[in-house]
Amino acid sequence: ALLVRHRMRSSARWVRAMAIVADLDERCGTPLAKLRQVADAMTVEMHAGLASEGGSKLKMLISYVDNLPTGNEKGLFYALDLGGTNFRVLRVQLGGKDGGIVNQEFAEVSIPQDLMVGSSDTLFDYIAAELAKFVAQEGEDFQLPPGRQRELGFTFSFPVMQTSIDSGTLIKWTKGFNIEDVVGQDVVAELTRALERQGLDMRVSALVNDTVGTLAGGRYNNKDVVAAVILGTGTNAAYVERAHAIPKWHGLLPKSGEMVINMEWGNFRSSHLPLTEYDHSLDAESLNPGEQIFEKLISGMYLGEIVRKVLCRIAEEASLFGDTVPPKLKVPFILRTPHTSAMHHDTSPDLKVVADKLRDILEITNTSLKERKLVVQLCNIVATRGARLAAAGILGILKKLGRETLKNGEDQKTVIALDGGLYEHYTEYRKCLESTLTELIGEKVSESIVIEHSNDGSGIGAAFLAASHSQYPDVEES
Ligand code: BGC
Ligand code: MG
Repeated sequence: ALLVRHRMRSSARWVRAMAIVADLDERCGTPLAKLRQVADAMTVEMHAGLASEGGSKLKMLISYVDNLPTGNEKGLFYALDLGGTNFRVLRVQLGGKDGGIVNQEFAEVSIPQDLMVGSSDTLFDYIAAELAKFVAQEGEDFQLPPGRQRELGFTFSFPVMQTSIDSGTLIKWTKGFNIEDVVGQDVVAELTRALERQGLDMRVSALVNDTVGTLAGGRYNNKDVVAAVILGTGTNAAYVERAHAIPKWHGLLPKSGEMVINMEWGNFRSSHLPLTEYDHSLDAESLNPGEQIFEKLISGMYLGEIVRKVLCRIAEEASLFGDTVPPKLKVPFILRTPHTSAMHHDTSPDLKVVADKLRDILEITNTSLKERKLVVQLCNIVATRGARLAAAGILGILKKLGRETLKNGEDQKTVIALDGGLYEHYTEYRKCLESTLTELIGEKVSESIVIEHSNDGSGIGAAFLAASHSQYPDVEES
C-alpha cells in the first residue's frame, strides 16, 4: 500500500510539473500575429523616439556617424571594445584604397566581476593599463608616421547621449554593470584621464556603441549593410536613417543625408510582449528594475536565469528533484545561458550533457530521463520565445526602412550585420531567429534580405571610424 501511495504521489507531482510547463509554454507563445504586433509596436516607437528626446522608451540615440567606412581609410588605428564580460583591444593597419586591412592584432581580457560594480577610476585605470600593455607590444608590422599621436576608436556598449563623435555622457548602465559615479559623465573624458594616468599618449577620436561599430565594420566589407544587431550578453540594434526623418535633430543636415541611429532596443517594451511571472520576478530582482525589458526577454545575460526560475518553481511546487529544493537551484544567475544552450543542444539518447550540467552546476544527481527531457523542453521554450521576438524586432526595423516588401522593379539587397555570443554560439537560437524572419517576410522577400555574421566587427568598426574622424587629414584618401 505504501508503495502504491508513493507512486501515486509521484505521478501527481509529475502531473503538476507538466501543468507548470504547459502553462509556461502557453504564456511564452509567439504566434506570427503576435510577432507582427510586436514589430509594428517597434516601428511606432522608432518614430516616437526620433520625433523628440524622451518621446519613447526607445532612445533612438544620434550617433554622430553620418558617414560609414568606404574602404579608403588609411593608417594605424587602435580600438578598445568594452561592454560585455570581456573587453578587447586591437590595432589595425589600414592600407587605403584597395589596400584593405594590412595588419591586425588583438588581445582579449576578462573584466573582474568586482570592477563592474566598483568605482569609475578603478574600471578605467584597469582598462587603460591593459591598453598600455598592448600598445607597448606594437611591432614593426605597424607604422605610425613620425610625430603623430596614436588614435583610438572607443566602443562603449551602453546607452550614451553623444555630444559629438568623440564625446558623450553615460545615460545608465545595463547588463551586469553598475558604477554610479560614471552615470552622467563623459566616458571619453574618463578614459582620457585614465590614459594620462598611465602615461599613454593617445587620442580618442570616435566614441561608438557596439551596434554602430558592427554596422561600420559590416559596411567596410559590404555596401548593402544598413543595420546591425547585437545578440550577446545584452541586445541592441543600430541602422542608417535618413537625416531629414529625424525631427529631433536640429544640427546641420549631413552631406550624406544620413545618420546612424543607436536604437537601444533593449529598453523596448510593449503590451504585446509575452511576459510571464518569471520575467516579472527576474526584472524586480535585477540591477535595473523596470528597464531593458526586451533585453531581459531575449539576451544572453537572462535566458539561463529565466530557465532557473522556472525549474526552481517546479522543484518547489512539484518536488521535481525530490522533497527538498536543491539549494544551488536557488542561487540567482548560477545557471548561465551557455549552460542552457549546451543542454538544449544535447543530442545524446540519454541526455548525458543535461545530466552532467545538472550535476556540475546545480548539484542535482540521479535525474531520470523524463526529468532531463523536461529541462530541455524549458530551455527550448525560453530560447524560442527570445529568438522569435528578436526576429520581430528586426522586422520592425525593416518596416521603418520600407524594406519588408519587394519594391516593383528594384532588386535591392538588404544586409543586416549580426554579432554577439548568443547569435554566434547558440545554434538553435540562431536558426530559430532566421527561420522566423523568413516566416514573417515570406520566402520571396527573404531572398533579398541577408543576415550576415559580422565576427567581432564592433571593435574593428570603431577603428575604421577613428580613421575617418582622425585629426590628420590625409588618412582618408579619395
Ligand atoms: C546596451 C547597448 C548595447 C547592447 C549590446 C545593451 O545592454 O544598452 O548599448 O549595444 O547591450 O551590447
Ligand atoms: Mg566573435
